[in-house]
Amino acid sequence: MIACLERFLPDSEAETRADDDVASLCKALELNGSIDYGSVGVASKDFGGLYAVKPLAFIRPSGADDLVRVVSAAARSSNLTVAARGNGHSINGQAMADRGLVIDMRTMEERIEVVSCGGSTYVDVSGGALWEDVLKRCVLGFGLAPRSWTDYLGLTVGGTLSNAGISGQTFRYGPQTSNVTEMEVVTGKAETLVCSETQNPEIFFSILGGLGQFGIITRARVLLQPAPDMVRWVRLVYAEFDAFSRDAEFLVTRPEGDSFDYVEGFVFVNSSDPVNGWPSVPLTPEQRFNSGRVPRTAGSVLYCIEVALHYKSSDHASTVDMAVSRMLERLGFIEGLEFHVDVGYMEFLLRVKRVEDEARANGIWDAPHPWLNLLVSKRDIADFDRTVFKKILRDGVGGPMLVYPLLRSKWDDRTSVVIPEGEIFYLVALLRFDPAYSKDSVVETMVAQNQEIIKCCVQNGFDFKLYLPHYQSEEGWKRHFGNRWTRFVERKTRFDPMAILAPGQKIFSRSRQP
Ligand code: FAD
Repeated sequence: MIACLERFLPDSEAETRADDDVASLCKALELNGSIDYGSVGVASKDFGGLYAVKPLAFIRPSGADDLVRVVSAAARSSNLTVAARGNGHSINGQAMADRGLVIDMRTMEERIEVVSCGGSTYVDVSGGALWEDVLKRCVLGFGLAPRSWTDYLGLTVGGTLSNAGISGQTFRYGPQTSNVTEMEVVTGKAETLVCSETQNPEIFFSILGGLGQFGIITRARVLLQPAPDMVRWVRLVYAEFDAFSRDAEFLVTRPEGDSFDYVEGFVFVNSSDPVNGWPSVPLTPEQRFNSGRVPRTAGSVLYCIEVALHYKSSDHASTVDMAVSRMLERLGFIEGLEFHVDVGYMEFLLRVKRVEDEARANGIWDAPHPWLNLLVSKRDIADFDRTVFKKILRDGVGGPMLVYPLLRSKWDDRTSVVIPEGEIFYLVALLRFDPAYSKDSVVETMVAQNQEIIKCCVQNGFDFKLYLPHYQSEEGWKRHFGNRWTRFVERKTRFDPMAILAPGQKIFSRSRQP
């Protein structure tokens, strides 16, 4: 089908002329897919709800060939940019393109195919597929599953691999970027390349955690393992950060077979607040948080380690009980504040989907989400607790405040992701929900609090990185990448010299010449 383009109303005559040029350029694209006029508005929004920019067109490609056509056409123009949009779950407009071309990766032909080679089993999956669909296909069709997940699975494969992909399995298998062995990508030079650790390794490692800067992931090969049937899901409450972090670090450094299969943690408010406090801890409606068990010496916030053990439905209940007890008896949580439940493996991995359904029903899913994600080194995490959790965030954020340790040795230094120094660092995720349904003043307060937290980290000299980073200036990006900045720029020069791709990250400006 020959595609054509409907314009937005231009702001000026100059823009009208520019848009006319773009319109004729796009007419010549001859896409097999289509250009969607109806839902351009979708491409101007994201989950964060903080920014809105108008693209010129929302393109629904049918395959990698269409991406080559779009990137080639952008390269022939003087100013067009191209943003691959996964599921638009960014917070700060990272998948947007101001007056550029947004590609709807979700509508690309979906491929989820299990393949065996070299004694291992993988899933070949298209870049726009949701992890949720990968889970269902692999577990229900083959009894297999990827090893490393995100908490929420309504995210695309290409979107999380462009960042890292972190969850409770990361301590053992690394982020999702450490579990991919091959990709097919379309670079900013409109080349289609298959890449791996041995084939085109430069683009392979550049793309992983590359914030969409070097190419568009059209296919990824993800390592699989046998899926368990069931999960024993456990929450353990702590009054002191020291005891919490000691046990969390103990758990993530145990050898496989002598620990849980999933380790996360969170901070909650030491009060009866239904969203931020004690009631946020129990795993079932029948379980009650007995606040009488909390020591009187406890401060404004409490801590919870969340773990899970995989098992087969054929395993005897006493075997599972014994395995869990053996690990729990080495931990120092508050007696009587232990919660557990047995759930199916898919139910466990889809746990945030249930939160989404509830949040959609009461309207807070579509309200703005000024989320902040940080990676903070072990060296500074106790000070972070003292200054941020106990003071700035003592009343909570209206949603989960995740904090759990990760191991640097499970991350591949050759990818584009940057993390703090030292073997142990913590993910901190402030998943803010706005109960006032997006009243501007509430959102502004949340954004200001995020800035206060970042300022506090900088002023205290904490070793930290933003995860899902967002900066407005080159200075910010240089600081973020530190001694990796030169490598990042070299990679950009090599694979997207005109800075066509992922303009919403605001790292590079579009140039006319390669
Ligand atoms: P988008 O937001 O659409 O895109 C993100 C960036 O990647 C953009 O720059 C875009 O241009 C680029 N991009 C998208 N697709 C491709 C592609 N195929 N090739 C190249 N570049 C591409 N993250 C975690 O690590 N762990 C979590 O547990 C987790 N939970 C989350 C829960 C929720 C409810 C939300 C909203 C986000 C969560 N995230 C989590 C963050 C998530 O990883 C990022 O939002 C990520 O951007 C994925 O979202 P997406 O697929 O919608 O990508």
